[in-house]
Amino acid sequence: MSTTSNLIVSSPHVKYTDDYIFSEYEYNETLVTKKDNEIVAKPYNTSLSIRTGRKIGKVGVMLVGWGGNNGSTFTAAVLANKHQLTWNTKNGQMDSNWLGSITQASTVRLGIDEKGQDVFVTMSKLLPMVHPDDLVIDGWDISPLNLADAMVRAKVIDYDLQQKLRKEMATMRPRPAIYDPDFIAANQADRAVNLIKGTRYEQYLQIRADIKDLRDKNKLDRVIVLWTANTERFCEVTKGVHDTSENLERALRHNNLEISPSTIFALAAIDEGCCYINGSPQNTIVDGVVERAEKMGVFVAGDDFKSGQTKLKSVLVEFLVSAGLKPVSIVSYNHLGNNDGKNLSAPRQFRSKEISKSNVVDDMVASNSELYAPGEKPDHVVVIKYVPYVGDSKRAMDEYTSEILLHGTNTLVVHNTCEDSLLAVPLILDLVVLTDLFCRVFYRKNESEEWSPMHGVLAALGYLLKAPLVPRGAPVDHALGVQRAALADLLRACLALPPAHRMRLEHKIP
Ligand code: NAD
Repeated sequence: MSTTSNLIVSSPHVKYTDDYIFSEYEYNETLVTKKDNEIVAKPYNTSLSIRTGRKIGKVGVMLVGWGGNNGSTFTAAVLANKHQLTWNTKNGQMDSNWLGSITQASTVRLGIDEKGQDVFVTMSKLLPMVHPDDLVIDGWDISPLNLADAMVRAKVIDYDLQQKLRKEMATMRPRPAIYDPDFIAANQADRAVNLIKGTRYEQYLQIRADIKDLRDKNKLDRVIVLWTANTERFCEVTKGVHDTSENLERALRHNNLEISPSTIFALAAIDEGCCYINGSPQNTIVDGVVERAEKMGVFVAGDDFKSGQTKLKSVLVEFLVSAGLKPVSIVSYNHLGNNDGKNLSAPRQFRSKEISKSNVVDDMVASNSELYAPGEKPDHVVVIKYVPYVGDSKRAMDEYTSEILLHGTNTLVVHNTCEDSLLAVPLILDLVVLTDLFCRVFYRKNESEEWSPMHGVLAALGYLLKAPLVPRGAPVDHALGVQRAALADLLRACLALPPAHRMRLEHKIP
């Protein structure tokens, strides 16, 4: 497979070979020390070499929950784009696109032209990224419906497009999956008939065999496993079970019932040398899983796609707090009628979602000690209700109350209606495309060192995730603009380009 990027960086700090892009990068930070009443800021820099593989290879995606709304819509979107399908609706003829995907449909400012005007490139053109058309899709589901019937059940894709996709998608059938009724809502039991029998260890072996089967049959260079199955309850994290890779392995072999199905999928993926991404809120990626991923040199990322309401929240609160206004009450109501909503109507599964949605303003609040005393936070409430009639068309209603000058108040009310899966699917694509890219990015701090991969917890994907996992002890950024800039700057670093800015000094001090 060839590179999708035609961008050449002309710099003494960048070298291209057939296989790699080498970047000599200066990473600048500022060390701040506080003593008594004095704050001292000391800039410093670290020199890094970054190597990005240009040969993309053949990439497979295995979705856990393939037959769900997201899984079937993802498959339909990839095929519709690949075949450049058009379809008729009451509004006329429509064509395929990837709106909502930052890699395919958003741009990054590269620099300026000779006249000082901005030049942007599509994010996917910055570095060699896998083309969505080239992805090989497979997966598992506890429901046996083929992907064409799953698409009909999801009621997301327009009818005429469904007809055009039916034949191809009918040949796609999810592999049997791991089901434990203790982890997802009881109301899912009627679809749970496509199951791997046996102990937890036997189930783990079967998942590994499935990955190997897909890889061998399609001669894949890389497989990425992504959980888009129902939200599980949190597992009860226990020392001696979940804390190390070795303990997890022992517990798995002893059929410990607090190892969740999603953690079994994660372990199987990692042991097959695959990255694992958690698109739901539950605590799949326990410490033992992280340790295992680091040992195997693969990435884990999570948790929970950041698609609609939370995305907007992380924009609005960033705006309010950085404007010096003080959000004091944030109340979010959702109602939705798809199977995700049905599963979340059970208290333990709702609790997972509530946790993942609740920390999203913490970093912004903590960043402004003018507004908030230590430990002070806004009231923040999240409500989710299941209303079957609205289907995948999720309604989100948010009220943000802020204190403004001299104790006045400002209340913003937002109503958001949108097909949930049509927001989540582009994120699935971006997660896969960027994970594949970062698998080809290595660094070293001096020439005598071996090239190393980035940290096993792939925090660079935080923009796409509601409760971003980061390496232990690292700060978490939720603010959307900050997350996006961090991602774009990391991609620029692979090309020895400095972080982007809009100082526009050439116009201010011409
Ligand atoms: P869905 O219910 O339509 O699909 C989930 C699928 O997973 C179902 O087909 C189900 O049969 C299957 N499943 C359940 N347990 C399984 C298991 N152990 N192994 C394999 N398959 C299993 O839900 P959806 O709308 O596609 O959402 C999927 C997940 O993504 C949910 O957890 C949801 O909370 C999360 N999520 C969705 C969005 C969004 O759609 N905008 C945003 C954030 C998070």
